[in-house]
Formats: sequence, C-alpha cells, structure tokens
Amino acid sequence: MHKNLMPEVGRFAPWVEQPYSIKRHGLTITNCDTEPVRTPGCIQAHGALLVLRLSDLSVLQASENTQAILGHKPHELLGHCVAAVVKNAGATRLRSILATEPSDRNPIYAFTLPADGPIGALDVTLHTIDGVALLEFEPAGRTQPGTGMHTGTGPAAPGLRPNPDYYSFIKKAVARLQTADTLLGFCQRLAEEVRLLSGLDRVMVYKFHADNHGEVFAESCRNDLDPWLGMHYPAEDIPKPARDMFTKTWIRPVPDIDGELAEMVPLVNPYTGKPVDMTFCALRGVSVMYTEYLQNMGVSAGLTMALRRDNDLWGLIACHHYSGAHHVPYELRSACEFLAQVASLQHRAIEDRENAAYRLRLEEVNQQLLSVAAQEGGLASMTDGEPSLLGAMHASGAALFHRDRWWRVGQTPTELQLEALGAWLVARLESVSMVNSVYATHALSADYPAGAAFADVASGVLAAPLSRSGQNLMMWFRPEVQKTVNWGGNPRDKPKAIGPHGPRLTPRRSFELFSESVHLQSTPWLTVELDAVARLRTLIMELVIVRAERLAGLNADLARSNEELDSFAYVASHDLKEPLRGIYKYAHQMMEATPANEDEKRKLEGLMRLTLRMDSLLDSLLHFSRVGREELTLENVDLNDVFADAIEMVGSRTDDGRTQISAPRTLPWVMCDRVRVREVLVNLLSNAIKYNDKDSKYVEVGYVGAQEASLRSTFPADTDGHTVYYVRDNGIGIASRHFGQIFKMFKRLHGREDFGGGTGAGLTIVRKLVERHGGQVWLESITGEGSTFLFTLSVADDT
Ligand code: ADP
Repeated sequence: MHKNLMPEVGRFAPWVEQPYSIKRHGLTITNCDTEPVRTPGCIQAHGALLVLRLSDLSVLQASENTQAILGHKPHELLGHCVAAVVKNAGATRLRSILATEPSDRNPIYAFTLPADGPIGALDVTLHTIDGVALLEFEPAGRTQPGTGMHTGTGPAAPGLRPNPDYYSFIKKAVARLQTADTLLGFCQRLAEEVRLLSGLDRVMVYKFHADNHGEVFAESCRNDLDPWLGMHYPAEDIPKPARDMFTKTWIRPVPDIDGELAEMVPLVNPYTGKPVDMTFCALRGVSVMYTEYLQNMGVSAGLTMALRRDNDLWGLIACHHYSGAHHVPYELRSACEFLAQVASLQHRAIEDRENAAYRLRLEEVNQQLLSVAAQEGGLASMTDGEPSLLGAMHASGAALFHRDRWWRVGQTPTELQLEALGAWLVARLESVSMVNSVYATHALSADYPAGAAFADVASGVLAAPLSRSGQNLMMWFRPEVQKTVNWGGNPRDKPKAIGPHGPRLTPRRSFELFSESVHLQSTPWLTVELDAVARLRTLIMELVIVRAERLAGLNADLARSNEELDSFAYVASHDLKEPLRGIYKYAHQMMEATPANEDEKRKLEGLMRLTLRMDSLLDSLLHFSRVGREELTLENVDLNDVFADAIEMVGSRTDDGRTQISAPRTLPWVMCDRVRVREVLVNLLSNAIKYNDKDSKYVEVGYVGAQEASLRSTFPADTDGHTVYYVRDNGIGIASRHFGQIFKMFKRLHGREDFGGGTGAGLTIVRKLVERHGGQVWLESITGEGSTFLFTLSVADDT
C-alpha cells in the first residue's frame, strides 16, 4: 500500500522503500494529507501491543516497550503463545472471544490483568484485522510508579476489574441531552456531560464547515481558561487522513502528548507481509505534526470523538487537558464513546425539532404552491399568486425559469444575470450528475465568480431543476451579509521549517486571535430548507408527470376522434355527391324544357348555383378527409423548388403586375412530403394575394432558424428547437379575435363572393397538412397592415 503514496510524497518519503514508522520517518512528512496514519508503525508507549496469529495465538509482533508494560522483552515473546503474558486462562478467554464475538475491526474488552509487582493492572482489549489479532494492554487507571505513566482521574481498579457505575451516569446524561430543543443547546450540554464524565480541562464541540474548516460550536472549559467558543480553525488543522479516520473509529485517545512512542518489532508483520493496520487501536501512534500542534497550543493530553450525521463526519468532540498527562481508561472511554454515538444519532432529530415550526410552515406553503401550480396558470403562477415561491422561505427573492422565460419575485439578479447563472447551474448539475438534486451555496461567487457582481442580492443561492434539460428551474436568493470571523491564528500561516531531513511541515505556532471580515456570503441555508425544496421539486415533477399523462390520454382521444371525423367526412362527401349530381341534372333538364315563367327560371338557376357550390364544398371536404387519411411520402426536399412550383401554380393570380412574391434568403432543404408542402404554400400564397387590397401587393416567404426561433417570445413554446417557415403579406390583415376561427372548416370572414370567393376550407387543410408533418401553424397580424402565417415541420428537424 505504501507504493500508492509514492507520487504524492516524493523525495521526502523514505518509507516508500522501507515500512513507515513515525519514530523514524515522522519528521520527513511534507504534506499531512499523505501521512500513512493507519499504519504508523508505532504505538503510544503508555500501553503495549501484541499482534497474534489467529491459529495458535502466537506472537507475531510486539511493541518494543513490552518489558516495561508486560515484564517481557519483545524477543522473549515473538513466536511464543500469548499465554506467556496472559496465562492459560487469559488465552482461553481470548479464543472464546475470537470464536463467539464480533471482534473484527471492533475492539472487545477481554479482561483486566491484575497488578503484578511494579506493573499496574492492565485492561486488555482484542480485535482482528487483516487476518491477525491485535491485543492491546492499557493501564486500568491506577498510578503506575516507575513506568513513566501518569494517573488517570478515572476510578481506580479494585481487584480484577474496575466497575464504576458509568451506566447510571450515561443514562442521566442521555436524559439531560434529550431535553435540549436547539442544536446549540444540545451541543452545549454534550460538551458539559463529556467534561463531567472525562474530567478533561476543555471539551469543544467542533463543527466542520463545507470547506472543512472548523468552528468551536459549543464548549465547556475550566473557569480559568480562555474560552475558544466561536473560534474558527483552518481545514489543515485536521488533515484529511485524520478526518477520514473518524468516519471509521469513534474515539482517539492521546493521554500524554509528550509521551514516548514504541515501535513494533518487527515493523512488518511476518504473517501478512504488511505493516500492521492500527485504525482501530486505542494505542495508535500519534503523528509528529499532531503532537507538535497540540504542544503549540499548550495541550498536554487529548481525547477526540467523532460526531457523525447520516454517516458523514459532522464534527468532533475535541477534549484538551493542560495540566499534565491524563489517561482515560478503557471503560470510561467506552462511556464517552457511547455518548458520542448517542449524540450522533440524536443530532439530526434535535435540529429537526429546533426547526419543526419552520418545517411545518414550509411544507404547508409547498402544498399551497402545488395547488396553485396545478391550476390554470401552471407553474408560472407560483411567482405571482399567493402564496408565492417566496412564501415561507427565509429568502429575499425567488425566480422560476419556465416556458422559456424568467418569472421573478422579490429581490433577484437581473434577467440577463439569471440567464447566465441558470446556464452555469444546469451545466454544473449535469457535470456532477446532480440533476436530481438541489444546489445550495451561501457563497455563490466562490463557485461562480461572475456571481460577485450581484452579491448584494444573491450571495446565497438555493436551486432545484424541475426537468433534466434545465428547461425549468426554481431558485431562491439571499443577500450578502457582512460578518467577522475570528480565527484561532492566521489561517494563511503555513510554516515550514528546516528539519534534520530537509524542509518539513510544522504546525502553526500562533493561535492568536485573527479577525477577518467576510464578504460575498449570505447566511447559510438550513437542512430544513434544502429538504423543503427537494420535496417541492418532487411534488412538482409528479404533477408535471400526471399532467403529461393526462395530456397523452387526451391526445389519444383526439387522434381517435380525428380519425373518425376523417372517415365520416369521406363517406358523407362521397355519398352526398351522387344525389347532388342527380339534383343538378334534374334542374338542368327542367331548364332545358323551357320553364313556365321568369320567377321559376330564376329559382332553377339559384338551385343549380347552390348545387354547384355544394359540390365544391363536398370536394373540399373530400380532399380534407384524404389529407387526413393518406400516408405522407417523406423525402429530403429543396424548399426553393417547392416554392418555385407553388408560384407557378398561383401564377395567374400574380399576373396583374401589382404583385411581387419573393424569398429574401435561400430556403433550406427539409424532410417532408413535397406535394403536401407545396399545397400548404399554394394555399397560403393564394390567400396572401387574395386578401390584399393594396396597390402593390407584397408577399414574402422565408424562415427563422431553430436557434433564433427559440428566442422569439411570441412563438408557441413547443415550437422550440424547430425551424419556423412563414408567408407574410401586406394585405387586409385579420383581427386577433378571428385567429382561431379562420382555421375552422368552411369558416370565411367575408361574404361568399368577396375577395374572389372561396369555400373556407383552405386554412383547415393547411393546418391538417402541417399537423401531419408533426408541426403547427399560427399567425401574427395587424388589421389593415398585413398577416404572417407561420408553421413548423417537425419531421424535418427530427431526421
Ligand atoms: P377561403 O380563402 O376559401 O375563404 P381559408 O380557409 O383559406 O378559406 O381562409 C379562411 C378565411 O381566413 C378567409 O375567408 C379570410 O377571411 C381569412 N384569411 C385567410 N388568409 C388571409 C390573409 N392572408 N389575409 C387576410 N385574411 C385571410
């Protein structure tokens, strides 16, 4: 495993070739993040460690200090059964633990070895790792004269095993913790309970911020000490390997900062061929950086516990002692560990309790927003209705990107700024596969430097995408709040010193108050707020899905009834034509057989005219039904050809010398049915000429590229991504109230014979043809000035 470290540790890493030992190589560390903290090669010398072979409990490795602790030199133990130290009864107990208890990576108390001459009583714990057993011997908590070890303030061990009533203490401590109703109150109580239990001088609840720097969130300390509450410490003070350790183990005792280290003999385990993994050892050797750091702080003993939330390291319970060594024996340590575990479990619940009223209010508004969104105005009404997106959220502004535009409420960045921020956010969420989650920051400009320009309104951003493509996005904003952060020493002070092995990293020496004013930050977002936004997001997405399903159902119904209508139109027009022909023939015959008088003659002529008109109406209907029923013949078509054909077909109508039809730029190639698209153009062109009373009639055929089209707010939203074709005229125009009407079958806005007459089927057929291509048609018009008919052919873009 050491080989892996090679690229990072470079030339100051002699242990790449030899196994690592803090005693030998600890001063060569140039980067704390590469220190092999799990395999330090050494233990803290107040105890002893034996590594045993599982099959016969023979000693594979022993810490070099076994003479002082166990009364035997390492080489007297190596290769021998552990019974030499723990007697046969002890070995039997160890075998039974290995056989029956969950000792893998989980130290289990085995027994307490009674005091023997100058050697005090020893607590013995056992765990297995990498296929070997690790047996730790630690003072059971009594004075150990002559061994260089110090007294613990924990209860003395009478006889074989100390048995103070930690249980009832813990029970009371947990009950007291339960009464807290704020996270701060809870952490404060926790610090007090741990101090009471451990007897250490200072207990801090140390909270990690998102950038891994720490803050003393709660504290209990001896009255004569300066409080460090509220102080911040840079991330380097607790390097990553150390933080990682606390996601695996709960507690880290360092009873004597100035204590000796004892190296393992041999350094590499002869059975596994690897250095021993001490992750779970209470005796694990302490890195030089860490001891120097604590020494610089004036600390003489330390005990640290993990505070986790949902398996993440939320913070630490960091305890310092200033008046000499302080050994916290196994049982007392277990009690502290148990408190840390309870606190970790309770942590989230307490914060939830603290924010219960806020959570409830957020949820209530979520539900109201949802019912607003479900109504007519859709999502957009969440910004202008009551309640709005700002409803319960402690934010100063909110924005929603929906239907290609921004809807804003309260204090927000400008639309242009939102545009850029939205694009950045969607790209970021995609790049870290977070499209299903919520983005929150209280220092936007750290992630997004351009955000500095609008820090006054949006230093804090909480955002949630409502669709994968980022087509819909919700955001909340908080303004910049300037504040002062008190650092325990200058966080930018990263000293290096020249050591015996060249330049080496040393910890900070100064912990003097260093005040820094912080800019470009808002108050941070709370977990309840993140939860509420995630929940609103899910609810809206569900609503959108339900809507889409309902729409799909409606579309299917519509398609069915359209088909039925098409076949009805066909049957009706086809069958009606026959009797109509009969009527016409009959009327014609009667005319031939000289009508009785002029009145009768006029009536017969009227009848013949009506049947002819009805015949043309039936022809239109028949044609319309064919358009709906016949398959399209799709091919790649040059629209310029189609346009030229269409002009030719309407040719006679342009021969008046007053009409000019043009295409300002070359039309594209599209995948379509050439004949049908020509019919669309013919219909639109002939209308453009027909409904035009100007002396110079001007008709323009053109298109708007997909990209440009998506920016046109007047275009329907679902034409997004498609090329839009148009036919524009300078004709009589159409009042907007008729926009929907004119696409209806046989609907004309004029007298039967005005503007050259017509059946009123042309635009209905145009719409059908366009829809058959998967597109849509709409118009823009100003009465008296002209009309523009626009359409898409989405088949063209899909291929
Ligand atoms: P028709 O031309 O046979 O009446 P259409 O369906 O083509 O039937 O058109 C329906 C109605 O829409 C027309 O009667 C006319 O009143 C109006 N209309 C169509 N195109 C235009 C146009 N370019 N300018 C003004 N009015 C138009």
